[in-house]
Amino acid sequence: MFIVPEKEIAGLISAEESFDAVEAVFAAMAAGDAYNFPVVREAIGHEDALYGFKGGFDRSGLVLGVKAGGYWPNNLERRGIINHQSTVFLFDPDTGRVEAMVGGNLLTALRTAAASSVSIKHLARPDAKVLGMVGAGHQSHFQLRAAVRQRDFEKVVAWNYHPEMLPKLGETAAELGLPFETVSLEQLGAQADVIITITSAFSPSLMDAHVKPGTHIACMGTDTKGKQEVEAALVARATVFTDEIAQSISIGEAQHAVGAGLKAEGDITQIGEVINGTHPGRSSDEDVTLFDGTGVGLQDLAVAARAVDLAREKGIAVEVEV
Ligand code: NAD
Repeated sequence: MFIVPEKEIAGLISAEESFDAVEAVFAAMAAGDAYNFPVVREAIGHEDALYGFKGGFDRSGLVLGVKAGGYWPNNLERRGIINHQSTVFLFDPDTGRVEAMVGGNLLTALRTAAASSVSIKHLARPDAKVLGMVGAGHQSHFQLRAAVRQRDFEKVVAWNYHPEMLPKLGETAAELGLPFETVSLEQLGAQADVIITITSAFSPSLMDAHVKPGTHIACMGTDTKGKQEVEAALVARATVFTDEIAQSISIGEAQHAVGAGLKAEGDITQIGEVINGTHPGRSSDEDVTLFDGTGVGLQDLAVAARAVDLAREKGIAVEVEV
């Protein structure tokens, strides 16, 4: 088997390669060629940790595996390592033999940013000029870098619940050569053609009244029951797309609108259908589109498989006998 350590990932797989891997697996999911296994998530009663597995099989790409890991809230303070820890294991679908073990921490950020970027490519208006960011934590920087690849954005406007975190996001915008303004949510909605929400909130920040017609919104923070970033009425107004419908209505942003009877499961479309051309996507320049990015195991496996290929090509994958 091959080992690709966490420390090698940064120099190995680009945002562009992550984008291609995630776009392809979303397409395979919608075509019925790839599916995710039920997610396991356990509070293990040790170190307040949440541990779990996200797995799946992509028959078209012949990628089988699992991401194992979770959240250890005391890591940073007690041990100086990040709280989110994960590792991807890939298996040979012909034999069941383990093929690779890949550090999954940076890959998680790359695959999450790739998902919103795929949604912007397929759902945002082609003339989108202003990017709005709601959130300024760890993931927001990856989101911003991946998003700006998809349209000729001229400006970034941003709001965060903790305003002191915004200057760091401004530095990332500056690196990308984009003007950056911190604004109120009203100003953000009035200006932004594309909005990414990437927070850990349990109550909505972005309201229906904030958002102008024609906006594309990628809701990326809500990945657990109870979390919520945008008002349910906004989800109700929007044409909603997602990575996986079952997750969207149970742990994604759509859980609240569906729970309140404002949206039906049948109103939500897998983004892969738009990629495959079996759904037209945005219906007009006035349509508000919303991508509910809940995060599926197949995204992790797709970028991990690409990382293994690249590591083998570059001779940096460690080969061990098992
Ligand atoms: P982080 O802890 O670095 O940042 C958290 C962000 O949420 C900050 O901007 C913070 O100001 C904001 N926030 C905190 N409390 C808030 C509140 N009450 N109201 C509004 N905003 C609030 O976290 P991160 O690593 O950037 O992750 C952000 C979110 O993305 C988390 O919820 C995480 O679980 C989720 N996530 C989703 C996926 C996916 O595939 N969809 C993947 C990775 C992470």
